[in-house]
Amino acid sequence: MEPSFSFQEMFPTGPDTTAYRLLTADHVATAAFEKTPVIKVDRAGVVLLAETAFREVSHLLRPSHLKQTAAILTDPESSANDRYVALEMIKNAVVASGYVFPICQDTGTATVMGKKGQQVWTGFSDEAALSEGIFNAYRKLNLRYSQVAPLTLYDEANTKTNLPAQIDLYAVEGDAYRFLFIAKGGGSANKTFLFQKTKAVLNSEALLAFLKTEIAHLGTAACPPYHLAVVIGGTSAEAVLKTVKLASAGYLDTLPDKGSPSGHAFRDRDLEKELFKISRGLNLGAQFGGKYLCHDVKVIRMPRHGASCPVGMGLSCSADRNLKAKITKEGIFVEQLETDPAQYLPTPQAKESDAVRLDLDRPLSEVRNDLSRLAVGTRLLLNGPVIVARDIAHARVKEMLDAGKPLPSYMTDYMILYAGPAKTPEGYPSGSLGPTTSARMDPYVTAFQPHGGALVTLGKGNRSQAVIDACKTNGGFYLGTIGGVAAILGKECITGIEVIDFPELGMEAVQRVTVKDFPAFLITDDKGNDFFKNLAAG
Ligand code: SF4
Repeated sequence: MEPSFSFQEMFPTGPDTTAYRLLTADHVATAAFEKTPVIKVDRAGVVLLAETAFREVSHLLRPSHLKQTAAILTDPESSANDRYVALEMIKNAVVASGYVFPICQDTGTATVMGKKGQQVWTGFSDEAALSEGIFNAYRKLNLRYSQVAPLTLYDEANTKTNLPAQIDLYAVEGDAYRFLFIAKGGGSANKTFLFQKTKAVLNSEALLAFLKTEIAHLGTAACPPYHLAVVIGGTSAEAVLKTVKLASAGYLDTLPDKGSPSGHAFRDRDLEKELFKISRGLNLGAQFGGKYLCHDVKVIRMPRHGASCPVGMGLSCSADRNLKAKITKEGIFVEQLETDPAQYLPTPQAKESDAVRLDLDRPLSEVRNDLSRLAVGTRLLLNGPVIVARDIAHARVKEMLDAGKPLPSYMTDYMILYAGPAKTPEGYPSGSLGPTTSARMDPYVTAFQPHGGALVTLGKGNRSQAVIDACKTNGGFYLGTIGGVAAILGKECITGIEVIDFPELGMEAVQRVTVKDFPAFLITDDKGNDFFKNLAAG
């Protein structure tokens, strides 16, 4: 029989059960056009919505995310390190909810998806109004400007506003304007992958083997526990990756559980369970060994061209900053996030296991001697001065080295912490400050260590074999700290901060920071041992 036309939505999600709060009943009016009711929204309302959305997601988390984090504390199968990380994350959420220190120092690329009902009228550039709200949030609050504009092919400058944002607007039926706001950190975004596979992957054995390998490759650099999303199929490469982002933000949770000949996306809950089990078996845990690499796994199956089978993978990190909002004739509403994360703290609080205190206020050779006596995996509390430097500062120092100049003394005399703090709130020594992904600095470790630089580094995630080898050859060490707890680190573990080189780089300037009881683990030692390699080997 010839098919007759019938429109099929790609994402037939169920009813929206999100808990919203009324932001304001202002800025919205009703009218009629050719007897059809229309909702008129004024520009100030859209600006206010975007500003509020990025204020909320920078400081508050969803109750469901916090519940999952709290569940790690009471799971008898979670590792001691899983519980340690989870407890720090809840404490971090408590600090962040005070609206002074953002949840993470990387306050992200501002991302907005809007679906505008055709009965909603604005009469201005929605994209410009949303951008203005984002500008206001990042300029007024203690957030970080992470966006760099290209000046030439190779030269860049920070925009100092965190603009541009990524804004995608769609026209739909109806009398509501619905939004999803996401603050997406760089480390989290970097764990988004597209694999151009073929039909050959569409059987249980091949698919599971492939996905197991790729989930293991994710590693811990994006601050687990993750909300992991896997999308199989898709009408194009970009459609797959957009779906990955929406799925990781929980936006597609209510898709049907089964496909149909009409061609729509659905959730495969059986594969979700299998991948979740695989993630637990990898032993990576919530950053330092255990079973909580993931809070959950969402698998979306999409229609595809018969000659292509794209597979997408991505995640929402432990700074799970997603917020829905809507404008209706009743007003402007935002998703209700958790304003009281302290309720998820255990009482009495779990006793932390013993940690070795490491005094950094002495020659680095003495610090290295102490580290050399410890086993990888040892938990440390760091006290004293460290140097904060990341991508651009490292590139500049490398240029100096290439030009035959010596390394600056801060590269040889101190532990190097890979980080870029958020803005400093008034009355505090530092803003939110947490580690950035260490692997990006791998080439500099191998270049600097033979010259006596970067002999002790501190960041997050695993390092390459080249770094492990360099540490063995040069007597170096790599320490890992907890990613995703920058509010508590900035507020409670930093007592002083001063810019000492490249001030024009803003958050990427070289800074001398004094730390107090700053938590870390010894990951790579001077004998070729590596904590993450040991975990992978089981
Ligand atoms: S929690 Fe980690 S991965 Fe997420 S934005 Fe912050 S630094 Fe990046």
